[in-house]
Amino acid sequence: MAYKIVILGGGPGGYVAAIRAAQLGAKVMVVEKDRLGGTCLNRGCIPTKALVSGTEVLRGLRNSREFGIDAGNPVIDFPRFMKRKDQVVQRLVTGINYLFKKHKIETVKGTGKLLSPNSVQIDKEDGSSEKVQAENIIIATGSRPAVNPSWGYDGTTVLTSDEILNLTECPKSLLIIGGGVIGCEFAGIFAELGAEVTIVEIMPSILSGIDKEAARLMQTLFKKQGITLKTGTGIQQVTKGQDGVAVTLETGEEIRADQMLVSVGRAFNTEGIGLDNVGVKTGLKGEIPVNSRMQTGVGNIYAIGDVTNKIQLAHVASAQGIAAVENIMGMETEMDYTVVPNCIFSYPEVASVGITGQMAEEQGIAAKAGKFPFMAVGRALAAGQAEGFVKIIADPVTDKILGVTIVGPHASDLIAEAALAVKLGATAAQLAGTIHAHPTLAEAVMEAAEAVHGRSIHI
Ligand code: FAD
Repeated sequence: MAYKIVILGGGPGGYVAAIRAAQLGAKVMVVEKDRLGGTCLNRGCIPTKALVSGTEVLRGLRNSREFGIDAGNPVIDFPRFMKRKDQVVQRLVTGINYLFKKHKIETVKGTGKLLSPNSVQIDKEDGSSEKVQAENIIIATGSRPAVNPSWGYDGTTVLTSDEILNLTECPKSLLIIGGGVIGCEFAGIFAELGAEVTIVEIMPSILSGIDKEAARLMQTLFKKQGITLKTGTGIQQVTKGQDGVAVTLETGEEIRADQMLVSVGRAFNTEGIGLDNVGVKTGLKGEIPVNSRMQTGVGNIYAIGDVTNKIQLAHVASAQGIAAVENIMGMETEMDYTVVPNCIFSYPEVASVGITGQMAEEQGIAAKAGKFPFMAVGRALAAGQAEGFVKIIADPVTDKILGVTIVGPHASDLIAEAALAVKLGATAAQLAGTIHAHPTLAEAVMEAAEAVHGRSIHI
């Protein structure tokens, strides 16, 4: 019997789509060649955050004297530090398997390939294969690290984010190529663990996509953490030796390190999945173009998540998965990407939603801005984490909040309020007029909203 939906890939796009499909009563199958949870759970969001949490404990111990506590000199047991991350991952993967059982979702372990718009072939590890019929197909095959072939990628000296998560020893020195979100998160982790970290970034600044003032502050704070930044330069040559890697920059400077992490973007998993068999076209980078209902050019074939190259975040993949399934099931759900929180789990954290001041300028909006520093927030000072600020961009005429950037403690949690404000079209005056609990970090959001009208109380 044909499945209502067959989903290729069980990452945060595919597995969430499957659960939504089951909730709506569809007979659904997920084909996953590796482990449920995809990049996010197994090689991305979750393992990195488990490591970030470990470094937070370490930082807390190192700063304990400030609080009148003598915790001695913390000793890192690197294998155990890494093992804890594996335990967190395992627990969450088990949780998804449980949810699949609960919703009676069929899963087949194997590599899926489209044979026609209504049939999928699954090649299994034991060499056998199976064909299933599908009324609708969702492609959720995700992405993998992109590597430049001339950089000597070998998974041991020259690594990607996949292999660095499985190190058994902490490198003494680590060279990171690419100062985007992934590169900066690993820089923070390994610098805290004691590695000598250098980031090489071809753009004039690291984290070039975020608010310029936030990026400048992060550069300063990274340097304070001992991270060396080489911006505005690419790589000329990579030479591997027995004791690590030597990299010549375009500036002529040579940098040596035990290991090199390549974090320069992601490649789409769209080859070999039978797109030619069904007439689904890919874009220049191999991505699958979709409409706002997640349909590809072939009506009953949908694509979600990283393969669509919209915004490469787990929560976007999940939202797209829900949208695809709801459309298949006769509901009318369209994706809207204007309110997507974006978080960087560096120290301190950076989070943003909506537009930045620079984007407002580019769009010809003479936006108003309100900014409030964590230095003036009681709870931040009490926690010993007072670096950073909240910045709100509001429409000059309607006062509607168009975007918020936060650099500071728990920015990734604080951004949720900002996202809701932008989504509901709240004004800066409404946010400022909402009583916020004292003493909390969220007061910085309220005060930044007050600052939009020049009437913040505490600065
Ligand atoms: P994936 O998660 O890549 O899942 C695709 C799945 O499809 C995989 O399990 C794969 O095995 C399977 N597959 C592929 N081809 C086939 C086939 N032919 N047949 C069967 N199965 C197949 N995002 C955030 O929102 N927050 C973060 O903090 C964050 N941190 C990250 C940190 C790192 C180091 C990395 C690399 C990424 C991070 N991301 C983060 C991004 C996030 O992981 C991705 O955006 C998200 O996983 C994309 O989901 P997806 O379902 O599209 O694809």
